[in-house]
Amino acid sequence: MNIHEYQAKKLLAQYGVPVPRGGIAHSATGAIYQANELGGDKWILKTQIHSGARGKAGGVKLCKSSKEISQFCDKFLGNNLVTNQTGPEGKMVSSIYVEEASVILKELYFSILLDRTSQKVTLVVSTEGGMDIEQVAEEMPEKIAKIRIDPSVGMQPFQVRQLVFNLGLPNEAVDSASRAVMKCYRAFRDTDANLLEINPLALVSGNKVLALDAKMSFDANALYRRPEIFELNDKTQQDTREIHAAEHDLNYVGLDGNIGCLINGAGLAMATMDMIQHAGGKPANFLDIGGGASAQRVATSIELVLSDDNVEAILVNIFAGINRCDWVAQGIVDLLNKRDVDVPLVVRLSGTNVEKGQKILKDSGKKIITAETLSDAAQKVVVEWKKSKGKSG
Ligand code: GDP
Ligand code: MN
Repeated sequence: MNIHEYQAKKLLAQYGVPVPRGGIAHSATGAIYQANELGGDKWILKTQIHSGARGKAGGVKLCKSSKEISQFCDKFLGNNLVTNQTGPEGKMVSSIYVEEASVILKELYFSILLDRTSQKVTLVVSTEGGMDIEQVAEEMPEKIAKIRIDPSVGMQPFQVRQLVFNLGLPNEAVDSASRAVMKCYRAFRDTDANLLEINPLALVSGNKVLALDAKMSFDANALYRRPEIFELNDKTQQDTREIHAAEHDLNYVGLDGNIGCLINGAGLAMATMDMIQHAGGKPANFLDIGGGASAQRVATSIELVLSDDNVEAILVNIFAGINRCDWVAQGIVDLLNKRDVDVPLVVRLSGTNVEKGQKILKDSGKKIITAETLSDAAQKVVVEWKKSKGKSG
């Protein structure tokens, strides 16, 4: 689960991480009020969406008057902001964070993430802050330094010094940076975060560092014990397909191919997607209907998969243990009775009540392509998809 920058900064501030003073606004009037509260004559206005690269997209601006603040708010509030991370439709801006402007001496990069390969928390720094870290990693990997933390030992002070040393800071700033790193680590650990990224971490006058940007995301499986974090969830920033699925207690994962997948169980889903790829197709998504799915639930699931515009063929692959093939089949037929489905539909049923299920599909007289095995199903759905698109092979 992701949160907004202003929420992450508030959280980090609670752990003592230095952040600029700021206030959140939902209107131009509110933003002017926040600027007045902060005082001074320059403010940084920042659109709040779950995406980075807002700066490049115009969504971060230094303002010097009420008029400039108003203009910025009117331009963005209530509209979608498109960045190179949001996808073409962008994300809705419903709030703007107003911060006191800082004089930046140097922009640095700092992040903490959970590295699943080494099974350790990894801290990353770079002198090349403010820019895309992937680009730095590719073009000048020597500018990136990392340390790994053994979770059973925890972070050691010498590791922090080692890490911060790579930032080439003036001696007087090393202390401020080291303390910021330690506090960020505590915040990361105590909130079950899986990512904390500060880009840029700025060196400002007085040999201090300041977190000018903050991105945090959290382990969804730990949210049950972090209600104060779960509270920060902003549904307007989530994929609408995933929200809709969650409302029906279905697990939905959006991908970028063309074949919609309805499967029971994550393991079977993985195997099915591999088989689709192997057969020359690409999954558009997968939806896990879970165990004991009713006909109604199956119908809802197919509707959800169909609501994805990228879906050009559907594969239903059910290996029924707790599920019942006849209920699944009934769900499919009910949906086809209710609405037209104009993409090829391939169904493979196996397990509990499979004969009953197959009979229901057959007796319906609907255009359903059945398959016997997983590889048969994957091949059929790819062939049908290509046929419907007029592609050969
Ligand atoms: P992002 O583009 O979504 O990652 O948004 P950031 O919060 O990183 O802001 C983009 C850029 O705006 C930063 O890299 C800084 O160069 C600049 N910026 C952000 N806050 C300040 C500030 O307080 N003062 C100045 N001068 N620039 C800032
Ligand atoms: Mn940034």
